[in-house]
Amino acid sequence: MKFALLILASFLLLPAFVPAQDTDTDYSRYVSPWKTPWDYEGPQGAQHWSELDPDYAACNKGMEQSPIDIRNARKADLPAIRFEYKSSPLKYVINNAHTIRVNYHDAPGEGNFLVVGDKRYQLTQFHFHHPSEEHIDGKRYEMVLHLMHTAADQEVAGVAVLLKRGHENATIQQVWDHMPDIEAQEEVVGTELDPAGMMPHDTGYFLYTGSLSAPPCTEAVKWFVLKTPVEISAAQIQQFAKLYPRDARPLQPLNGRVVQESQ
Ligand code: ZN
Repeated sequence: MKFALLILASFLLLPAFVPAQDTDTDYSRYVSPWKTPWDYEGPQGAQHWSELDPDYAACNKGMEQSPIDIRNARKADLPAIRFEYKSSPLKYVINNAHTIRVNYHDAPGEGNFLVVGDKRYQLTQFHFHHPSEEHIDGKRYEMVLHLMHTAADQEVAGVAVLLKRGHENATIQQVWDHMPDIEAQEEVVGTELDPAGMMPHDTGYFLYTGSLSAPPCTEAVKWFVLKTPVEISAAQIQQFAKLYPRDARPLQPLNGRVVQESQ
């Protein structure tokens, strides 16, 4: 009885001290983000995603899907973008069977932000693809980093940072040092990670409207594809490729969409 009262008391006290979203989910246990398995190739491959689960309908029926080949971009007077990224403890590195991913569970209004004009999008997760999903004038890069953000009005904005062979990236190495080689997550202690360490100095970008590039392929995602790539070492590329030799969705039709390019 005393125990039950104690539990009741702690539940009553909890909301005052802990952000709501941290009380209902246990992030210390790995859970796949997908209830229906899928793959990039084979019977559960990209051509079949819509058949696997009605929730994945947009994948093969949507008209504004990602990734795309970015060409004939139209120069436009687009707002400058800014990254308000900062150092915070790296808690878990996740291998979700399709990529290596780091999640952010900051309370709304806290954490890391992409700022576009006067709109703020909060960083929710970042992950990688090998090779890059985006093509620029028909050319793909060795890898791409996707940073996903959500605004207060629930609009989703993806930032794509193309990765090319060159110097080692120390921030990416912090992630690689803890990536599980099977579907699981690794708990990290004592590492502070700043996503800014993975960003180019120049934030000129291409802009188009697309989708999540993995099931459920949800549309109305604003994609900011940064024009300036960031370097990653050959050894780092190989370390990721050993786990994921090819985790990139094929190019999707433009269907009349226009890609804009910042000045
Ligand atoms: Zn992605």
